[in-house]
Formats: sequence, structure tokens, C-alpha cells
Amino acid sequence: VDVAVIGAGHAGLSVSKVLSGFGIEHVVLEGDRIGQGWRDRWDSFCLVTPNWAIDLPDATYEGDDPDGFMPKEDIVTFLEAYAARAGLPVREGLHVDAVSRDEQAFTLSTSDGELRAKVVVICTGAFQSPHVPEGAASLPADLFRVDPSSYGSPDRLPPGGVLVVGSGQTGCQMAEELHESGRRVVLSCGRAPWIPRRSGGRDIVWWLAQSGFLEQPVGALPDPREKLVSNPLTTGHGGGHDLHYRTLQRMGVELAGRFVGADDREIRFEPDLAVSVAGGDERYLRLRGLFDQVAQRTGIEHDLEDPEPFDASGAPETLSLGDISSVVFAGGFRPDYSWLPWPGAFDDMGFPVQVDGRSGVVDGLFFSGVHFLRKRKSAILLGGREDAEVVGAGVAAYLGAGTGSRG
Ligand SMILES: Cc1cc2nc3c(=O)[nH]c(=O)nc-3n(C[C@H](O)[C@H](O)[C@H](O)COP(=O)(O)OP(=O)(O)OC[C@H]3O[C@@H](n4cnc5c(N)ncnc54)[C@H](O)[C@@H]3O)c2cc1C
Repeated sequence: VDVAVIGAGHAGLSVSKVLSGFGIEHVVLEGDRIGQGWRDRWDSFCLVTPNWAIDLPDATYEGDDPDGFMPKEDIVTFLEAYAARAGLPVREGLHVDAVSRDEQAFTLSTSDGELRAKVVVICTGAFQSPHVPEGAASLPADLFRVDPSSYGSPDRLPPGGVLVVGSGQTGCQMAEELHESGRRVVLSCGRAPWIPRRSGGRDIVWWLAQSGFLEQPVGALPDPREKLVSNPLTTGHGGGHDLHYRTLQRMGVELAGRFVGADDREIRFEPDLAVSVAGGDERYLRLRGLFDQVAQRTGIEHDLEDPEPFDASGAPETLSLGDISSVVFAGGFRPDYSWLPWPGAFDDMGFPVQVDGRSGVVDGLFFSGVHFLRKRKSAILLGGREDAEVVGAGVAAYLGAGTGSRG
């Protein structure tokens, strides 16, 4: 084929739609089923972004709940319907095990034999590998361990308390539902920004979009490693509500500083909870500053107050395991392209070295659906159309110009 797209999440399907528009021969190879990334999330998963914030090529949300937050089953249904309606050439159950390149083209070794392609577009997901901190190795062996891909639901953990390590959107959502299920929950916190779910009668994603926050390229960050900072804490559960350190503390979740490790059955934390909360507050105030500009431009006022005082005096530096029987590692995700044979094609954080999705290292290799591929919104449903159009146009230009070989 001219183009092999690997992965049928929203990114792969969006690129396929754009390639179809150009009349470019291609196939989408999906190792499992359409939308597998969403299928694999925990049982109660729903969007944090509202339903209206879906923008794929020729596909937006047209249901009767634009301000709602779809559960994962509905996202999968949406993507399946998208692929079917557009007649996208998806081959499900066809895993790509390896890719190599010679002077002429790529060879893809798949679960159903080999395939040659002039161009490969990697759309295997933005958040592939759950990050587990080094100190995890020091925890007692009898502690039940899960990460977001194996967590499922509170009733799949053994009875007892739970230590959640990591306080991004995922960790906070799990801490909340574990607490609501009646368990003791200790949440080990890092430096995540937070934001109320709604302000001035609008959802916060409206403010984030209007303020240009979601349009920021990586160059706008003070340091590229800021890419790894959590999205602002909030949740779509139960129709959407505030969810951050203060709300969790108020409901009875025990907050601690960063997880260090364990000495036998005693867990150690950094004495940094107050600093982490202050760091999150500082980012909140930066966002509020951006929203001030939106208010000036649109005349729509936000109602964001100064952060309330926070009492970190009870945060433990050591904690005896006691009734804690499980640990959930929710310390964010990292890209994982270790199955590709070009280590030099990825930076020291594991992200592709690319411009507008086109690899700067391997000729004919493209990416889409990558966190900060072009902008902050690149990996979310709101950024699907824009990036797919840019990547698709890049592929069309590449094929039109004929292939060379730099890889
Ligand atoms: C916890 C969490 C919450 C999120 N919440 C939101 C939200 O509220 N709103 C939002 O817009 N975004 C959200 N996102 C981001 C969004 O889910 C991802 O960015 C999005 O799923 C990425 O889409 P994708 O198509 O790039 O990858 P995926 O949806 O992960 O799809 C990749 C596909 O590639 C397939 N694949 C992988 N490797 C191979 C291979 N070697 N061969 C063949 N097939 C392969 C997989 O089976 C999978 O189907 C969230 C992400 C996470 C982790």
C-alpha cells in the first residue's frame, strides 16, 4: 500500500479520513478493536472534556447532551460509527509487531504476515505506558499493585485501605471513587494544577479553549519537560464537578507528599505537600490570568476566587501500612515506541522528533495523536481534526514529491 496507518483510535481514524479525502490508497492496521485505548480504561471512565469538545474530520458531537461527559462505551460507539459511516479501510485484529525500512519502503511484520508501505503513520496512542516510580520496588511483595490499565474498579481490589500514588486527573478520580466505595484512601500528591469545573456559567474547557491555553505549542512552555505536567484537575463524573486537593481533603481522603519508597512496612513521603499545593495554586492563578484576558475580549466574566487556605500540617512523612492492602500507581503516562528500531527518532522523554507529525529522522515516517505533537490539544478529541489535516497534507505532499531515503 502507499500508506499504512497503525492504530484505530481517534487519531488513526482521523488521519484515514483525511487520506481518503485525498484519494490516497491506505490501510489502518488495528491490533485489537477500534477505540481499544478507551475500551481498556477503568470501568467508570468518562470524558473529562465535554462532549461538545470533539472535533474530528467531518465529525463532531451531534447527540442531545453536548455539555455531558461520555462514558467510555459511548466514545467507542462514536468512533465505530465514524469509521463505518466514512467507510474507512480498518483491519481490526491485526497487530504490527515490527517495522523496518530499506531504500524503497517500509516492511511491517504483522500478526497476519508482511506488508510493504511507502509511508507509515504511527497512531498507537499518546499515553501508552503508565509511569511507576522507582520507589515502588521497595514496597512489600504482598501489597496488591495496579496501574490505571489494570485497576478496573474498587471491587476488584482486596478488602482494605488503598494508597494512590499520583494525583493527576486519573489519580484524583480513582481516589474519589475508592473513597466513595467506603475505603480508607491515602493520596500521594505531586504538583498538578487545578481549576473549578465551571466558571461564569461556562465549562472550564470553554475557558481553556478561548484563552489559547489548548493552542500552546511546546515552545510556549518554560521547559519542554512541562509536557509531563498533569492537565488541570477536574472531573466529568456525575455530570462534572470540582475535584482537586481541597475537595478530596474535605471528603476525607488523606493527602501526603510525594511517594519516596518503603522501609519494610513503613511508607515514606517527601515533606512537600504544602509546596505541591502551592505549585498547583500558582498554575491555577496563571490560568486565571489567561481567563482575565478572555473576559476583557468577550465581556464574559469568570468568577474565579483566590485559592482558599490549605492545611498541610497533617500530611504524614511516614505511614505504617496497617490496613492498607493495595497501591494504585497513577503517576501519569509516558510514550512507548520501544518496539520501533529507531531510538534516535525519539527525544530523551520518548517523544518523536518531528515537525507537524513528520519524523525528522526516518524518511516517510509520520505520527499523529501524540501529546504536544503540534499543540497542547494535539492528543485530545478537540485536536483530532486539525492535526489529522496537517499530517494528512504532509503525507500527500511527501507522496507527491516522491520518496527519498534519509532513514
Ligand atoms: C486517563 C486518560 C483520560 C483521558 N481523558 C480524555 C478526555 O477527557 N478527553 C479527551 O479528548 N482525551 C482524553 N484523553 C486522551 C485520549 O484518550 C488519548 O489521547 C487518545 O485516546 C489518543 O488517541 P489515539 O488515537 O492517539 O490513541 P488510542 O485511542 O490509544 O488508540 C491507539 C490504537 O492503536 C492500537 N495499537 C497500538 N499499538 C499497535 C500496534 N503495534 N499494532 C496495531 N495496533 C496498535 C491500539 O490497540 C489502539 O486501538 C485521556 C487519556 C487518558 C490516558
